Amino acid sequence: RPDPLVDAVARAMEHADGVRRLGVRANADTPEDAARARRFGAEGIGLCRTEHMFLGDRRRLVEAMILADDDAERDRALEALLPLQRRDFSGILDAMDGLPVTIRLLDPPLHEFLPDRMELAVRVATAEAQGGAPDDHDVRLLDAVNRMHEENPMLGLRGVRLGLVAPGLVAMQVRAIAEAVVERRHAGGDPRAEIMVPLIDTVEELRLVREEVDRVLADVSAEAGMPVDCPVGTMIELPRAALTAGLIAEEAEFFSFGTNDLTQTTWGFSRDDVEAAFFSAYLDKGVFTVSPFETIDRKGVGRLVEIAVKEGRAARPGLHMGVCGEHGGDPESVHFFHAVGLDYVSCSPFRVPVARLEAGRAALDGAGAG
Ligand code: PEP
Ligand code: MG
Repeated sequence: RPDPLVDAVARAMEHADGVRRLGVRANADTPEDAARARRFGAEGIGLCRTEHMFLGDRRRLVEAMILADDDAERDRALEALLPLQRRDFSGILDAMDGLPVTIRLLDPPLHEFLPDRMELAVRVATAEAQGGAPDDHDVRLLDAVNRMHEENPMLGLRGVRLGLVAPGLVAMQVRAIAEAVVERRHAGGDPRAEIMVPLIDTVEELRLVREEVDRVLADVSAEAGMPVDCPVGTMIELPRAALTAGLIAEEAEFFSFGTNDLTQTTWGFSRDDVEAAFFSAYLDKGVFTVSPFETIDRKGVGRLVEIAVKEGRAARPGLHMGVCGEHGGDPESVHFFHAVGLDYVSCSPFRVPVARLEAGRAALDGAGAG
């Protein structure tokens, strides 16, 4: 039996898709989420986070990487991770066959990956107190964790910083992506992987990572006998990156605005503590009427986005740009991203239909950025 409401929504969606200029992608990091996003009309993946791929059973391999006293031990851990990552990427590229999939290199706050420091210390101390020798693995792990401890992990060894100091990590991930592309092509698919570098502050970081990325892509291309040339771009999610976007654009084939971190670092508010007491008091007192983590703060964060769009495109005409922070699925923010000239928004799969509708409305409104 035809349902008039379903029919009306379908017609509205069709109309919005017909007029919108903004593309709509989804943030997804499993084949299941990618398939769901596709059913909701996503035109690609704007952010595939790779952090979860290092948890669970794979923690032992990450520990081995952290602990590796010698290059051979570390290389063995990376070799064990490579086929697992290749499988991760191959599944997602398969689910999004023919559409772009932006895969972000590992961006952990380090504390989420390290074993719990307290737990380890208690284990070692208990064994000593009982007069026995503590487990050698625990002692080495505790020593490594103590050395790597940070008071502010969200401002610490995250994103590109980890990629630049952990030998072999970027190469392993890029090889896994490139080999997954080759695998999908052999299976008759049309994989479109893009490689994204997180938490860039300066173009120098991007230049260094790109050298490694380009080398690995060239190696895999030679081994496979086919060109594997994934576009390489960067997140713009720190104020310094936004303000130096013209320089960064020299090394980036695309930008994706990480408005979660950009909001955190522009306001100086911890994104993990938005429930903190002062935050609701600020809402009550009207310092702001809506959380800047929900709706883009046009006067501050939005200004940085505008500057980066303008300078990025001046340095590299036609530079492809999107947003993959939570704001990408917020209706009011979608209007802003349209007005500022982004090419696409990327949001959680369930918000894709709303983003499509709002992108259509924004095109019809011709909404201003101010
Ligand atoms: C962001 O910072 O907006 C972003 C998309 O990255 P993450 O949320 O993973 O830090
Ligand atoms: Mg971020």
